[in-house]
Amino acid sequence: MSKTKFQKEQKRKKKRIEIKKRKLTNLANLRQMFLKFDKLEEKRSEPVDLTSNFDYKSVIENLEKAISITKNGIGLSAPQIGCYKRIIIIRPDLKTNTIQHFINPRMIEITQDMTTMKEGCLSYPGYSATADRYVEIKLEYDTENGKEEQTFKGIESRIIQHEIDHLNGKCVVADEYKKSKEYNF
Ligand SMILES: [Zn+2]
Repeated sequence: MSKTKFQKEQKRKKKRIEIKKRKLTNLANLRQMFLKFDKLEEKRSEPVDLTSNFDYKSVIENLEKAISITKNGIGLSAPQIGCYKRIIIIRPDLKTNTIQHFINPRMIEITQDMTTMKEGCLSYPGYSATADRYVEIKLEYDTENGKEEQTFKGIESRIIQHEIDHLNGKCVVADEYKKSKEYNF
């Protein structure tokens, strides 16, 4: 290898490392955006006024970015990235990676049947809690073209109920996390 070739190779290597570093910093920033232990405030999020100039599209974009860097994230809410507005996203199928968002989601119908299962939460990694959820829900939400409705069951129904809890300042996993802290004196 000639000297110039060696120098070029070194330069390329340096550039590759720089790109990698930048990518990692972006990832770290994104993680910090929503993995905030203790910083998730227990307050009700505000409805989004779609006629205002509030940039809800950026919030959805950031939620999608944030969930995309997680391996197992199947749902995320705006308060988890520090925005106390009523926006949630779900990614029920990790294989297809399809993400659906809901603005001002409202459960307008629920079934009597409940199911019990353990849930995790991206804001409280390593913790889980058992939660009773309605088997099926009918969700109403706002879009640029007006109200829309959709029925969900199974895991999708469960994720939506977990995320709506966040919008109401609640989280079953946070409760479990707090309990474990109380025991750690
Ligand atoms: Zn959660």
